[in-house]
Amino acid sequence: MKQGLQEGFSGMEPQRGTIIPVLLPYPFAGPFDYRLPPGIAVAPGDIVLVPLNRRTEIGVVWDGPPQGGVGDNRLRPISSPVDAPPMRHDIRQLVDWIAAYTVTPPGEVLAMALRVPPTPAEAPPVGWHRAEPLSAARITPQRQRVLEVLGTAAMQGQALASAAGVSSTLLRGMADAGLLVPVALPIVPPFTRPDPEHPRPTLSPDQEAAAADLRAAVAARTFSVTLLDGVTGSGKTEIYLEAIAESLRLGRQALILLPEIALSSQWLARFERRFGVAPAVWHSDLSSRTRRITWREVASGAAPVVVGARSALFLPFPDLGLVVIDEEHETAFKQEEGVVYHARDMAVVRARLCAAPAVLVSATPSLESVANAEAGRYRRLHLPDRFGGASLPVVALIDMRETPPERGKFLSPPLIQAIRETFARAEQAMLFLNRRGYAPLTLCRTCGHRMQCPNCTAWLVEHRARRILQCHHCGHTIPIPAECPACNAQHSLTAVGPGIERITEEARATFPDARLLVMASDTLTGPHSAAEAAQAIEDRRVDLIIGTQIVAKGWHFPHLTLVGAIDADLGLAGGDLRAAERTVQLLHQVAGRAGRADAPGRVMLQTYSPDHKVMHALVSGDLESFRENEAAERRPGNWPPYGRLAAIIVSADTAEAADIAARNLGLAAPTTTGIQVLGPAPAPLAILRGRHRRRLLLKARRDVAVQPLIREWLAAVPTGRGVKVDVDIDPISFL
Ligand code: ADP
Ligand code: ZN
Repeated sequence: MKQGLQEGFSGMEPQRGTIIPVLLPYPFAGPFDYRLPPGIAVAPGDIVLVPLNRRTEIGVVWDGPPQGGVGDNRLRPISSPVDAPPMRHDIRQLVDWIAAYTVTPPGEVLAMALRVPPTPAEAPPVGWHRAEPLSAARITPQRQRVLEVLGTAAMQGQALASAAGVSSTLLRGMADAGLLVPVALPIVPPFTRPDPEHPRPTLSPDQEAAAADLRAAVAARTFSVTLLDGVTGSGKTEIYLEAIAESLRLGRQALILLPEIALSSQWLARFERRFGVAPAVWHSDLSSRTRRITWREVASGAAPVVVGARSALFLPFPDLGLVVIDEEHETAFKQEEGVVYHARDMAVVRARLCAAPAVLVSATPSLESVANAEAGRYRRLHLPDRFGGASLPVVALIDMRETPPERGKFLSPPLIQAIRETFARAEQAMLFLNRRGYAPLTLCRTCGHRMQCPNCTAWLVEHRARRILQCHHCGHTIPIPAECPACNAQHSLTAVGPGIERITEEARATFPDARLLVMASDTLTGPHSAAEAAQAIEDRRVDLIIGTQIVAKGWHFPHLTLVGAIDADLGLAGGDLRAAERTVQLLHQVAGRAGRADAPGRVMLQTYSPDHKVMHALVSGDLESFRENEAAERRPGNWPPYGRLAAIIVSADTAEAADIAARNLGLAAPTTTGIQVLGPAPAPLAILRGRHRRRLLLKARRDVAVQPLIREWLAAVPTGRGVKVDVDIDPISFL
């Protein structure tokens, strides 16, 4: 029916009895077999409609032989092919690969890849042209105006009608009368080619060496992975833009993944400065029309550069020549819902499937990527200095035991003093606290009752401005009660601990003249508000920025010279495997926002544990030694990245059902050498959205392939009704 890939069934004579596997976007174990009706030929990747139970479903003709097992006479025929571009071979491979790696039914991964409904190529817009020769029909003054406006050109109907001040009905009447003929107008390309030779800054010798290296990797047209690791402000972005330029010169496509595309206005502006035009963007805030257009332009090769969120991995690039993963250490790349996968790792897979180079970029690379570089699997480019002689900010600790804030307050005197000095120099300051809302806990002073979510093992977070208590896990929301629900005491509920709303209140009282701006996921709700906030800061319409982890992401604020972390210890509580690593990354990134060439930056970390290794690493700035220490701690126990982890999460409607299922899984745990199964144990979030949760953790040597073991294990243990078992390969969250 159309140009498929030349393999499998394509070119096969359509004959009675041809059986084809079709993958449906549902969590079945694999494709289903269907019969191909006579007279229809399909190839793997073709989109088809097939009957399923009593419905008609969309599916993709899959690779490989039919599944077999269903009697030929009971096979149902496909309903019809769909006139849409087939799913590319490399995307099908990616779907299979992700499914196998994450131990997820392939149809569930397919559902992600099909999120843009396959649509036929857009018909060119229709316009009108003067009939040649004109018929003998009567030319009224209105018709005369149309012919004058049109001249010898072709014009789109609506535009012509309004220019001539007539209705579209009149145009159709003219066509019927033989005065106009319809013509297909060319489709205006939505994306202009970025110009790789657009004027660009001169790179420093270090930068030029790294850029040349990446250009060579792009020109090699083979798979490679490069870790581009350099301090904040060293010019990493500038350098990988050169790799993109090379890809453009070669006429190939480039994909850039950012952890938080909705907040990337500055990145887009930067791209436009370098290449003269904006790239195509891909994220969940796009209108469905823009999605369809972008998808189509990527598929045709007319969108040479796409910057996107993790779902951009499934776009149908015909000639992908470069994949960049910026801020590769970001946990936002891990999708925790639905198909649990790490977009950084799958981006590397995508690059391999297309024989393209991948570039991982970070000032605080993950231990995983550094270990891969050390083992020789990745190449590493290192930039030790900030561009233009700018110095890294000076990091100091504030020991909260020695200089505590006033009672009920959270800003210590040294931090307040530093903020005042910053304002006096007409520079900007930032306060960082990774916690939304007013207070993380509401407590009754009379009876000690804590306001808890009825659906989750979590406290309700106060959002004072909205007068609600809200669960940050399930969204459960109640008005702030007037009395304690346990003891009915009036005016006894009290806020414990700070969120950024509370810090904002304190800052407002402490610095009444300062202009404040709050940056959090609930105030910056999309690309537009994020762009506005960034602009206000760049234009110095803001003195003090108060933000959650959103402020850690790659912003450039040239007038920002002081960063204060309200609670530098926050991420260390709970102590999962990566707590220290993540805290260092987050605080180092936040610190990196401070100071540029002409204005050195200062960072103050409020802490109750100034002797913690994390604080030492941040003060010294010696992240390399910190990573080496972490590595030395993880290596002996085969903890990642020196071993593999997989979490098995059991959830059920009742605690009892969850316990039984988890115990049965525990008893059947594989005992192969090189692996160890820990648990079952109640998850830290023992109840989430009303479901009771238990966890098991499988730890394996690096050389053990854990997926087949897990598949066999789970298949051998029947789970009860209402029990769900989720697998999280390479877990990052242990909640
Ligand atoms: P990173 O991505 O490592 O944080 P950037 O590429 O964003 O670093 O560079 C930091 C700042 O320095 C940016 O404002 C950038 O425009 C500027 N910069 C970096 N390299 C150069 C250069 N060679 N010439 C001029 N400006 C540069
Ligand atoms: Zn909840």
